[in-house]
Amino acid sequence: MDELSRLFGLAADHAAGFRRSLPDRPVGVPVDQDALTEAFSGPLPAAPTPPERVLAELIAAAEPGLVANAGPRYFGFVVGGALPAATAADILAAGWDQFATNAVTSPAAIAAEAAAGAWLKELLGIPSPASAGFVTGCQAANTVGLAAARHQVLADVGWDVERRGLLGAPPIRVIAGEERHVTIDRSLRLLGLGADVVEPVPAGPNGAIDLASLRKVLREGSPGPAIVCLQAGNVNTGACDRLREACELVHQHGGWVHVDGAFGLWAAASPATRHLVDGLELADSWACDGHKWLNLPYDSAFAFCARPGAHAAAMSYTASYLVGSGGVPLGAELTAESSRRARGFAVWAGLRELGRDGVAALVDRCCALARRFAAGLTSAGFEVVNEVVLNQVLVGFGDDARTDRVVAAVQADGTCWAGGTTWRGRRLMRISVSNATTTEADVDRSIAAITRLATL
Ligand SMILES: *Cc1c(COP(=O)(O)O)cnc(C)c1O
Repeated sequence: MDELSRLFGLAADHAAGFRRSLPDRPVGVPVDQDALTEAFSGPLPAAPTPPERVLAELIAAAEPGLVANAGPRYFGFVVGGALPAATAADILAAGWDQFATNAVTSPAAIAAEAAAGAWLKELLGIPSPASAGFVTGCQAANTVGLAAARHQVLADVGWDVERRGLLGAPPIRVIAGEERHVTIDRSLRLLGLGADVVEPVPAGPNGAIDLASLRKVLREGSPGPAIVCLQAGNVNTGACDRLREACELVHQHGGWVHVDGAFGLWAAASPATRHLVDGLELADSWACDGHKWLNLPYDSAFAFCARPGAHAAAMSYTASYLVGSGGVPLGAELTAESSRRARGFAVWAGLRELGRDGVAALVDRCCALARRFAAGLTSAGFEVVNEVVLNQVLVGFGDDARTDRVVAAVQADGTCWAGGTTWRGRRLMRISVSNATTTEADVDRSIAAITRLATL
């Protein structure tokens, strides 16, 4: 075997071995961060090192600090584990080393994005003429969607924001639920709108936007251009805003609806949960992650826009993108990157691996396992505080200090991993079931560990 095949083979073999170890590996491990940093440090080498030795050194240094987040009992944040074909495709993408800016720099990468983008829209129920930008994460997807929104609402009142910026521009209203994700605020800051622009709308009992309050905010504010951020999948509770009514309301006021659906938009992919995001097709832009519930490798997310012209005008290289002049906007014209990796291959491979039925089964299975968690922890005497509509479960173990102690004990124990969160002023354990390999046995084992640690 030649040297390159040996080297790439070693990397792939090691990665496969790591994946195989996940079900049995402690999920959370006590880590000495200084020792880890120490293992990576040392003087900048003056001379070259043979690649195989570099690989061995990297593995030795990284191993003690690797987290089993791709494994079946990691329930922190909203984290999946990359599917086999998608991971292998990502390995190929690294090997092919494509410069995926446009169809000249990598025809294959752009073709994969086009095909995968069409499949994603079909699965999610997003209208097929929508543009699809392949971005790094939902943070980036929110920024791109809100940039398109900023373009359009200002263009509607005769202001070209790409040329003239925001200095002297007509004021824009931004309305968002008070339980929006923190990335919305960061996107607004990056776009020069500032976090203080947000007119917050109260949430209902399970964390979805309260429609009567939204109506009131829309009515009572100034009549200027408005962007409304809705949410499919509250990161704490999983609740989805009632998109049909909300979109209709916003459109009556001439506003733009952006939906942050990082994980919750996947409810659309199963007949059993589709009703939770009914009306999503009425929105103007959508942000959705691939690396969360779809179990694709990092970094993978999608910015869809019902008006490809607004999307390209906001994101293209030139300040005056002439819609229709350059054909269909593609690749880097729909994202904030210029040179970029070919992330479409992994998306294409993951969707091919699962198929429509596989995606629906993944969503259904995770939701059923979340309900199993809720039922098990309730019968063990703990308090599930949210209505479990999707894959997120919030659990209280008494007062805040006690809940924090239980979360810390669970993380140190290593059977499973769940994070702490603050929701409605209370400290809670947040359990997110998003991994394609989690089984009922994993959930039962985790419930037993949590129960043992919480009753010590
Ligand atoms: C995770 C999440 C985001 C941010 O996504 P990244 O992929 O981490 O950038 C945005 N919104 C919601 C609702 C999320 O759950």
